[in-house]
Amino acid sequence: MPLEEYKRKRKFEQTPEPPPKLESKKGHRFVVQKHDATRLHYDFRLEMEGVLKSWAVPKGPSLDPADKRLAMQVEDHPVSYFDFEGTIPEDNYGAGTVMVWDVGTWQPLSPEPVDGKYLPGTEAEAAAMLAKGDLKFRLDGKKLKGDFAMIKMHGRRPGSKGNEWLLIKKHDDHEIEGYDVDAFDGSVLTKRSLDQIATDAGSSEWTSSRPASRGRLKAAWLADAVAKLDKKRLDERNPAKKSVVKKKLKK
Ligand code: MN
Repeated sequence: MPLEEYKRKRKFEQTPEPPPKLESKKGHRFVVQKHDATRLHYDFRLEMEGVLKSWAVPKGPSLDPADKRLAMQVEDHPVSYFDFEGTIPEDNYGAGTVMVWDVGTWQPLSPEPVDGKYLPGTEAEAAAMLAKGDLKFRLDGKKLKGDFAMIKMHGRRPGSKGNEWLLIKKHDDHEIEGYDVDAFDGSVLTKRSLDQIATDAGSSEWTSSRPASRGRLKAAWLADAVAKLDKKRLDERNPAKKSVVKKKLKK
């Protein structure tokens, strides 16, 4: 049954997330949510087959074709999740603050390029590409634009769960060399930062620097990537946090 895993993982009397409703009408929206959970990550979701096909991207998407961003496929989410921004309470699955980092529409591309260019594809082609593990699509968001591929990794890396994909920008007019996801921070719905969303929600935990209680990562290659991300995040977020605290004290 669709959305069964989504439903099983959540306590809907506690979380403000939307209920597990399957949509009948076909849409082609996408959303990228920045999610300050146990590990900060970006959730990349494509509306397909009445649900949002979802991947967690630790480093976030990139417009640089040289970047191959690890994307771990997670359970399908209901379509109404696409504008969810707020705080998932502690002791709930995915507890932490969620920002709508980008929204827009997407279209499937042809499985193979024609004269070096990808042409618009069909719904059936998209379903087949997803099943095969090589989905090509074009995004028209506020931040993300152009052609991308989501490619399933078939390698037998130690610690692999079999849900690892790579999100890769294709070469086109929208590519940006050395793309820095943090340079495009902020909610596209409300312009708020993660700290502001957490504060607005009245969360009492926003000032405490959440202890880095990390589950042990079995795969060394993944642990290394996450450690680098953590360090970068710590360096960047500490000054920001101080300024928010100061502003609050003045009031
Ligand atoms: Mn998430």
